[in-house]
Amino acid sequence: MTQRRMLTGDTPTGQLHLGHWVGSVRRRVELQSQAECFVLIANMHAFTTRSEKPDEIRRDTLQIVRDYLAMGLDPEKTAIFLQTEVPAISELTYLFAMLLPYNRVMRNPTLKDEIKVKNLGDNYSFGFPLYAVGQTADILAFRAHAVPVGEDQIPHIELTREVARRFNQLYCGVDPKTEDADHAAAGGVFPIPEADVGKVARLPGTDGVNKMSKSLGNAIFLTDELKQIKKKLGKLYTGRQSPDEPGDIENALFQYVRTFISDADRVAELERRYAAGDDIGDGHIKIEVAQAIDALIAPMRERRAAWDDRDDDLIDILREGSRRANALAEETLAMAKEAAGLGFWKRSLSLD
Ligand code: ATP
Ligand code: MG
Repeated sequence: MTQRRMLTGDTPTGQLHLGHWVGSVRRRVELQSQAECFVLIANMHAFTTRSEKPDEIRRDTLQIVRDYLAMGLDPEKTAIFLQTEVPAISELTYLFAMLLPYNRVMRNPTLKDEIKVKNLGDNYSFGFPLYAVGQTADILAFRAHAVPVGEDQIPHIELTREVARRFNQLYCGVDPKTEDADHAAAGGVFPIPEADVGKVARLPGTDGVNKMSKSLGNAIFLTDELKQIKKKLGKLYTGRQSPDEPGDIENALFQYVRTFISDADRVAELERRYAAGDDIGDGHIKIEVAQAIDALIAPMRERRAAWDDRDDDLIDILREGSRRANALAEETLAMAKEAAGLGFWKRSLSLD
């Protein structure tokens, strides 16, 4: 049996936040010792909405590497690499774009949401919807089995599964009735990947409404100190007026309680007293949550600070990760070209 392989990544549109940790990165750290792991920084996809700000994309690319190292990704175990330095991904994007109906791509609810939330109107670039096709190539270039992501990514993974099935059926003779799990054994180039959604699939932001997101100004970052965390949580609106008023334990504040306070008895007690309006104020709970978050991220903050002013070392990590990524992605591309009748000779590219 082949070893399980994990691929996932993040777009450099800002620093990573607690949503990334609970939705995806925590799981990646766990998987490091169980699977072959690849983590991509989608710096080309960052151009979909920020093509006029290459300096920011470059800065955020390195910030994300710092965040990864701080959160516990180990570059010895996980290949951390740059999307723009793996040419096979772009080549597969072109090929997969031929296998997906245009309307199918545009129906993707995550794309539609992004157009709305980011106010893109109908002025987005051609490359914007193309990124959804590109993401199928990010994953399939590594013939990944598992993709640890938050809930918003599920439509993208579904699109990836469709391309993989279609490719295997069209070019590898895989029978359409074949179960997803059996595609590779039936001769398909691509295993059908699965989304591995974290226990907290969607952490709300400190606005208490939207998903915590880099671009919505509602995020708590690893670099935030206790004081800032308290200030941000202070703004979280619950609508509750006094410590004696029964509260809703499904609100955003209680999602934070359950996510970040690790003592289960304490969580149960807070839930009971909040639901009953038993003399427990929102402000008090927020301080407890802020302390729990600070205890979680303080060691990360410290590890992160050790990478300040070390851009060259971070670039070395990306370079080594990209070397490992290219070795596998070039192999996949050759297999795909061979299957699709494009394998006229075996090329060798030097990708140092
Ligand atoms: P942007 O605002 O630029 O879209 P983002 O904060 O949504 O950024 P992405 O780079 O789009 O972050 O997401 C990277 C990964 O982190 C994805 O797997 C996504 O599902 C997960 N993720 C991001 N925010 C959250 C969240 N609030 N809760 C759970 N998972 C999240
Ligand atoms: Mg996003």
